[in-house]
Amino acid sequence: MTRAVVVAAVAGVLTVSAGKPAARSGQPAPQFDLLIKNGHVLDPANNVDAVVDVAISGTKIARVAAAIDPAQARRVVEAKGLHVVPGLIDIHSHVFFGTEKDAYLSNADTAVAPDNHSFRSGQTTLVDAGGAGWRNFLQFKEQVIDRARTRVLSFINIVGSGMKGGPVEQNLADMDARLTAMRIKQHPGVIVGIKVAHYGGPEWDPVTRAVAAGTQMGVPVMVDFGNHTPPLPLEDLLLKHLRPGDILTHTYAHVTGRFPIVDESGTVRPYVLAARKRGLVFDVGHGGGSFLFRQAVPAMKQGFAPDVISTDLHTGSMNGGMKDILNVMSKFLNLGMTLPDVIKANTSRAAAVIKRPDLGTLGAGAEADIAVLNLRQGTFGFIDTGGGRFTGTQKLECELTVKGGQVVWDLNGIASPMWTALSGPAKEP
Ligand SMILES: [Zn+2]
Repeated sequence: MTRAVVVAAVAGVLTVSAGKPAARSGQPAPQFDLLIKNGHVLDPANNVDAVVDVAISGTKIARVAAAIDPAQARRVVEAKGLHVVPGLIDIHSHVFFGTEKDAYLSNADTAVAPDNHSFRSGQTTLVDAGGAGWRNFLQFKEQVIDRARTRVLSFINIVGSGMKGGPVEQNLADMDARLTAMRIKQHPGVIVGIKVAHYGGPEWDPVTRAVAAGTQMGVPVMVDFGNHTPPLPLEDLLLKHLRPGDILTHTYAHVTGRFPIVDESGTVRPYVLAARKRGLVFDVGHGGGSFLFRQAVPAMKQGFAPDVISTDLHTGSMNGGMKDILNVMSKFLNLGMTLPDVIKANTSRAAAVIKRPDLGTLGAGAEADIAVLNLRQGTFGFIDTGGGRFTGTQKLECELTVKGGQVVWDLNGIASPMWTALSGPAKEP
């Protein structure tokens, strides 16, 4: 493409989106690259819950304030009636996509290539939950993390070979706290925690080794609990083995081999409430088999809302009842959580859980990761992983996603100029 064509295409954007020519000769260049106007900003990290404008310069949030002059921006998005929130963080996804046969969620096609799923549901950060262990983390980094536009982080599996399924995940000899800690030390802020999952033996060793590595490196442990023969008590996991800040995922699951958090009489177990008081983190981890309305409805009626609302994304869950993070967040809206609380769970709270407080915020100077959401009203059906349907009246939909200042998803073209304003050959994507 020639330079002249690039200029022509950009000039079209300038004229139409900014409302008036933004960079006429003799006038100072606009100070903002993108301005999202008149949206209802929900930014729990900064206690913002108001109709204000969000201005972006380059890759960063420049300013959040009322009535920012559109003439100061190269590109203006009208977001009246929409919610403007920090880019969503999913702390439990499976994105170690690859082509290895029979490898479950570790370099396998049951996992999802991150950009194929993230932006269309307002997500700018996906945390892979245990796809890679210390042995194959570098492959995960080179193959996925370094290539994706989505920010991809990792809970590294305590199993050195990662989440390959079957006997690989049952090998205690491949669960090494020291080597796991060494790998975390090499990638601080990218490996944000340690995952324990799927072990079926009677020992606590996978948990105790993960906690040892987590204590050494100052990162949380996420546990997918169950499968043990004989079953290990959830009470001991929550009150004896895990530390404040550690995470129980699949909170609203009821599967064989794990005690559900709501007992047979419909009451949230006292030790679950005690664990919350201790500072344990309860994550949804919806997945293909880990979210039942018959657990979530009574739990929510008793005020037991999740700390973090994650997907447990993989090809099974995304095509089942889970669908995407907004669908799961919508379930909790319809179960009684407020919109600000639902947004907080997947922005500032999720960022705090993974100790990345630089994320999940629209504070000036932060990376410009933004989701613009439409809260639709109507009659909507939601499905759990037992096949049960729940009817609700609200549903979140993603209109626009911005990652590092770049528009990466624009459902209805609200950030795009009218086609009539453009001419010449198309700009290359
Ligand atoms: Zn998972």
